[in-house]
Amino acid sequence: MDGCIFCRIAAHQVNARILFEDEHVVAFHDVAPRAPVHVLVIPRQHIVSLAQVAPGEQDLLGRLLLAAAEAARQTGVAGSGYRVVTNCGASAGQSVLHLHIHVLGGRSLAWPPG
Ligand code: 5GP
Ligand code: ZN
Repeated sequence: MDGCIFCRIAAHQVNARILFEDEHVVAFHDVAPRAPVHVLVIPRQHIVSLAQVAPGEQDLLGRLLLAAAEAARQTGVAGSGYRVVTNCGASAGQSVLHLHIHVLGGRSLAWPPG
């Protein structure tokens, strides 16, 4: 989608530290990491948030979660533990309106989140 920063990253029109990508998903390092490991996993397809995922898109959701686990492995936090989270909508603090899954690790993570 024109003007969407994550669509532009997926299209390689904006620089990002891409960890891996395939035809469906892109995993890249967050520009303002909140933990030693902070990777974002996005679908190439522009979907605003989890709330906008259509029924029948279970393959895509599965790919995103599997990519999150792969990102944890590739960044070395699979053994120590990590958190997978998606902020959905204003109250959750979603700031980029393109579905993304945060993979956070490399330090102790408080629960519940603020
Ligand atoms: P949200 O608050 O929407 O859940 O998370 C958006 C995340 O995207 C934030 O952690 C923010 O640092 C990250 N972000 C925003 N713009 C960019 C960008 O241009 N490049 C990268 N790599 N991360 C971004
Ligand atoms: Zn987008």
